[in-house]
Amino acid sequence: MQVKACQLCGKLAPVTHTCRQCKRKVCEACFKHEVGVCSKCHSRLEVETPLLTFPMKLFLLGFALIFLGIIFLIASSILYGNVQTTTGVVIFVGPIPIILGSGPYSFLAILFATILTILGIAFFLLLRK
Ligand SMILES: [Zn+2]
Ligand SMILES: [Zn+2]
Repeated sequence: MQVKACQLCGKLAPVTHTCRQCKRKVCEACFKHEVGVCSKCHSRLEVETPLLTFPMKLFLLGFALIFLGIIFLIASSILYGNVQTTTGVVIFVGPIPIILGSGPYSFLAILFATILTILGIAFFLLLRK
């Protein structure tokens, strides 16, 4: 173990690790053990690889939240009976639309939700280009 300046942060610390990528000798704080590289190379690796899965996680999270919201709405309408709330939800599972509605104006709410969903899809497709 040598005590000298870390080649990444410049701190005088026990330089115990060598980065696999850039061969810098770095201190404990600058080394990512799970990948065997310094924090600088690690941040660069992160930009290159796992970003592909990140929007997918967001999508799944959003889907889970929508699902939870629907369960909550259904549960509250069952629990509280004739509450004057109007709910309309349209979910697309692939090409299959699931339309849920409750309340006295559910038809209008569903219509509104359908229009919003179509607009949302159109907007999404436009942004992808
Ligand atoms: Zn360091
Ligand atoms: Zn490195």
